[in-house]
Amino acid sequence: MTDADPQPADGDTLLLEFVRDRDAPCPMCGYNLRNLPTPICPECREPLSLTVGVRKPRFGWFVVAITPGFFSGICAAMMLIPLVGSLYSPNGPAPWPVWALDAFGWLSGLAALVLVRYRYAFLRLPQTVQRGSAVMLWAIHLTAFAGLVAAGLFW
Ligand SMILES: [Zn+2]
Repeated sequence: MTDADPQPADGDTLLLEFVRDRDAPCPMCGYNLRNLPTPICPECREPLSLTVGVRKPRFGWFVVAITPGFFSGICAAMMLIPLVGSLYSPNGPAPWPVWALDAFGWLSGLAALVLVRYRYAFLRLPQTVQRGSAVMLWAIHLTAFAGLVAAGLFW
């Protein structure tokens, strides 16, 4: 934009128009700014500005969905040392289900990272789909964890 461009309406004007005949609390002190004459809160003297916000992004199910993946990834990374060690153990290597579950943990951790990468696509899904995905991921991981405990018992 150059200086020659006419400003459509300056921010202060838009702010005063916004609060004209409209209840809006001061973000600092909560004072009702309805019919504010100047862009300064009359109560706390804070200079005010009009901004664009997002409708409450709901990260709840997203966090629930990525938690088991991250946990599995960390566990899988830590399990790798005793697993590789078991190759040289006199008792023989760990049974294949333990290896399979470790691989599952790595894949799960990777999947969680992919989910973080595409978080906005996930957050655009309807809440019911987000919840369903999170519940399904937990079910898969709890099953895998139960399998790991069972496999560990026979190791
Ligand atoms: Zn205020």
